Amino acid sequence: MKRFRVAVLPGDGIGPEVTREAVRVLELAGELFGYRIDLAKHAIGAEALVEDGEPLPSRTRQGVLDADAVLLGAVGDPRYTGPASRSPEAGLLGLRRLLGVYANLRPVAVHPSLSEISPLRPERLHDVDLLIVRELTGGLYYGAPRGRDGTSAWNTLRYSEEEVERVARVAFEAAGERRGKVASIDKANVLEVSQLWRDCVGRVAKDYPEVTLEHLYVDFAAMRLVADPGSFDVLLTENLFGDILSDEAAVLAGSLGLLPSASLGDAQGLFEPVHGSAPDIAGRDLANPIGAVLSAAMLLRYGLGLPEAGDLVERAVRQALGAGCRTRDLARPGEPVLTTGEMGQEIVRALARIEATATTGR
Ligand code: NAD
Repeated sequence: MKRFRVAVLPGDGIGPEVTREAVRVLELAGELFGYRIDLAKHAIGAEALVEDGEPLPSRTRQGVLDADAVLLGAVGDPRYTGPASRSPEAGLLGLRRLLGVYANLRPVAVHPSLSEISPLRPERLHDVDLLIVRELTGGLYYGAPRGRDGTSAWNTLRYSEEEVERVARVAFEAAGERRGKVASIDKANVLEVSQLWRDCVGRVAKDYPEVTLEHLYVDFAAMRLVADPGSFDVLLTENLFGDILSDEAAVLAGSLGLLPSASLGDAQGLFEPVHGSAPDIAGRDLANPIGAVLSAAMLLRYGLGLPEAGDLVERAVRQALGAGCRTRDLARPGEPVLTTGEMGQEIVRALARIEATATTGR
């Protein structure tokens, strides 16, 4: 039996609650496909500060480096008021740096039965199924020099060809597995960095003749994302534009609690829901675990190379939503509300049901 090792970092707030459900689904999906997934839990964030005095202890660093992939819940605790460099969130930034994850993938799909809870009109949401590929370790957030003096402040936007090309390849590979379209976002009418970005993406595109490439200015892309979101397949962007556009796209789905992400580099990938630790609802079994469960699906697909197991988990989530299962963030007035654990259980049941039907049909 093939074995995989997954490091599990539940973190703070609702992190442990949603991760528990993601782990149940991950274990069952592995079992159904005949794989053994060994899970090892490690501390990060406020939990690690309490236990080890630092947000990313060396035991956790070693644990993630020993694993094939990393599943994270969320970090952040409003009770922590120490210096930023030793805050819970510093643990997450340190983890991303440690793993060298330069490509952040955020899929956004709208389940037809949830189109009513999106702020956009339902008819605008037909066929929304897009993937944002955001460069995560370069650009304005990391560029030097940076600083501030009495009357001015400055940051540096710099990308190398290598940084652009490696993240572009991730986008083209993903598009090849999807609907074969990449929209590359830049501001090439104003910025030299965007001109380099456009040149590099155009060069990479030549290696993927089956994928169609279009270049869009970021201002137009922001508009099209709400006017015609169904027209996008893969959006490829640099760090700052991606930060903004991915939050804009997240709104389409209707709840933050639905959205997963994957951060990929050349070694272990990091898989985590898009939301934070939600201290306002933590410890009350109210959180929606779907973002975490779909992150586990991405872990299966991209982290362990098991796309069929990832597909199965995604189908199970769609089936549970289609059957009317709703956590508090998804329910409309009068609809019954499931707890975090009950939603996890419904997804597990759907998974087993789909697999049983497939086995009977074989
Ligand atoms: P948040 O995502 O934690 O919460 C925003 C709102 O969405 C809250 O009302 C919350 O109740 C709701 N929400 C979030 N996830 C939900 C879920 N699964 N189900 C139902 N409702 C959900 O963002 P915030 O309040 O700005 O930040 C809280 C803490 O989380 C802060 O310490 C912040 O630094 C941290 N944070 C961590 C991450 C991460 O770990 N990747 C990301 C964002 C924020």
